[in-house]
Amino acid sequence: MRRALFAVLLTAALGMFTWTVRRFTRMILAGRPEGRFDDREARVDSVLRYFFGQKKVIEETIIPAKRWPRFVSALGSKYHFLIFWGFIFITIGTVETIVAGIFPSFSWQALLGATVGHALSAVIDAFSLTVLLLVVFAFFRRIVLQPRLIPMSRDAAAILSAIGLLMLTYFGMRRLDGAAAEACWWAHVVILLAFLNYLLYSKHSHILAALPNIYFRKLGQRGILPKLNMEADDMAATGVVQGFADFTWKSLLDGFACTECARCTNACPAYNTGKPLSPMQVIHDVRDDLRTRMPDRGPLDVLLDKFQHGAGAAADTVQPLIGGRTSEDVLWACTTCGACQEVCPVFIDHPEKIIQMRQNLVLVQEKVPTDLARTFTNLERNGNPWGIGADKRMDWADGLGVPTLDDHPDAEYLLWVGCAGAFDDRIKKQTRALVDVMREGGVDFAVLGLEEGCTGDPARRSGNEMLYQMQAQQNVEAMNGKNVKKVITACPHCLHTIKNEYPQLGGNFEVRHHTQLIRELVDSGKIELDAVANAAKADGGPGKLTFHDPCYLGRWNGEYDAPRAALDALPGGPDARVELPRNKEHGFCCGAGGGRMWMEEKIGTRVNHNRTDEILASGVDTVATACPFCTIMLRDGVQDRNAGERVQVLNVSELVAKSMKRKKQIDAAQAVPPPSST
Ligand code: SF4
Ligand code: SF4
Repeated sequence: MRRALFAVLLTAALGMFTWTVRRFTRMILAGRPEGRFDDREARVDSVLRYFFGQKKVIEETIIPAKRWPRFVSALGSKYHFLIFWGFIFITIGTVETIVAGIFPSFSWQALLGATVGHALSAVIDAFSLTVLLLVVFAFFRRIVLQPRLIPMSRDAAAILSAIGLLMLTYFGMRRLDGAAAEACWWAHVVILLAFLNYLLYSKHSHILAALPNIYFRKLGQRGILPKLNMEADDMAATGVVQGFADFTWKSLLDGFACTECARCTNACPAYNTGKPLSPMQVIHDVRDDLRTRMPDRGPLDVLLDKFQHGAGAAADTVQPLIGGRTSEDVLWACTTCGACQEVCPVFIDHPEKIIQMRQNLVLVQEKVPTDLARTFTNLERNGNPWGIGADKRMDWADGLGVPTLDDHPDAEYLLWVGCAGAFDDRIKKQTRALVDVMREGGVDFAVLGLEEGCTGDPARRSGNEMLYQMQAQQNVEAMNGKNVKKVITACPHCLHTIKNEYPQLGGNFEVRHHTQLIRELVDSGKIELDAVANAAKADGGPGKLTFHDPCYLGRWNGEYDAPRAALDALPGGPDARVELPRNKEHGFCCGAGGGRMWMEEKIGTRVNHNRTDEILASGVDTVATACPFCTIMLRDGVQDRNAGERVQVLNVSELVAKSMKRKKQIDAAQAVPPPSST
């Protein structure tokens, strides 16, 4: 009787689970195609490191809302590792329970022999106890520790209760006798099968979706936006995202893989300065949009929505995704800094989705913030966001005699000046310093002069793909027409766009950031820095200094060492340099990326103030930058905090130019003194 009843229950539960998996898989695969099947070896390696090894889970720390002893907070972020491995071993016990329900004589002891079977049972018992204790801790963590953004939701309470009861009934059926053991057995299998069927409707869908999401993650260069077909006859054919179904299948899988750990939102500069943007919520919005628009949506979906989100959830079915469920303010708050995708343990790409939704606002809905619309006009009319006449693009080089490629067609490098370097008075000094360093290092270079236009980064990151492609195409044609092979950029945004995105338009160049060139010049001895003189700030040197990582040099292009190496060669040496608390992969944005440089910051506090406060608290005399936007934002931040006298904001090129021994000096010092005439 027990066997027959269990067989019916199991068949019904597995049938329903299969149906649920099929309906969600069908919806995910209805997304746009995307090739993620290359390099199997690297993909398997990712699964081993990041799924089974839980690498990112171990590395990152979730911010607790309240202050607790360090080990409690650390356990709060790392206990998932234990619970994960607990689950793996418990699953072995679950297999035994299910098979024994059909074939009562089955047990691991019977199959593997007494010694191995007993050892396995002991391990499963140990992990079951560990998981039970961790469930208690998880309740304590959510209710008492209250990690930021990880509330005690109904969904979490249901899942944690189910796991706790599974462990208790597991011990009950193994340690008790008679009717009590039988009751525990039935309770265990009923909870188990109900849990299985609830999974895909809850945040615990990640139990099933995390592994494929990590396997199919983006490999290689990050942050390359998919190119829209702007020559298509109608908007739908351009590839612009109109709703959840226009994302790729991988982007839709992201929503089910999210563990709701909130690491992304905790790292987000917009969220941390009071903007309405939570990258975690953006991912959930896409997933929830999919769920509420499933063609076979039935009463069970509505019931589960109400249970998880309250009675008002049903109204969400009529909201559009872009500008509705995900509001315009949310979408415009993003600086595209990439901090969210950096920390995500399951490799979700938030910025790409945000920019794709911005494309819809700009190209389809024509909803553009006024200040950004002005910038688009400046770009269209003058080829730069400042709106200064294009004929003034070479004014920065007055008196320097910098050759254009027309003057010097065989130059080894094209120096890509960038709009900030050409038009902003503060940044022009950085460009002149860079020219000084390149000349001292004997670098053979020329510029495009008046033929250079904005790379298109501000237009592309703020959703105006049409304008981006126009600008980028002009630049690619000019560079190909002059047979450019190697490019040095002053700006990391120019670096990213020319190096990684121009190939989509037929522009293939070897591109390096100026700090990479400077490091090479220093390492090869082509420029020498005065290692002792002027180290102190009082003597005109940098004094105690730090480096602020630009998002597009660091996170998006993986370059953290070159600017640091150049700084360590300065007067004062490596000892003079300190790291900010948020550095390298976890560096905090200056607030200017993603077109935010040209938008007013009306909500919350300013991102550059948040970063400036961190810099001021570090007690440095100098903050070194490697991006013109960072220089402007941090200079403004330092001035707003009335700290202009205390802290100087200088580009790496300026610091190096200041400390460089001039060849003339070196030659004079090394020259053999002329023989005395006496
Ligand atoms: S890219 Fe940066 S600003 Fe945008 S959502 Fe991610 S963390 Fe926030
Ligand atoms: S998107 Fe990634 S980092 Fe953010 S909550 Fe989900 S799993 Fe965590």
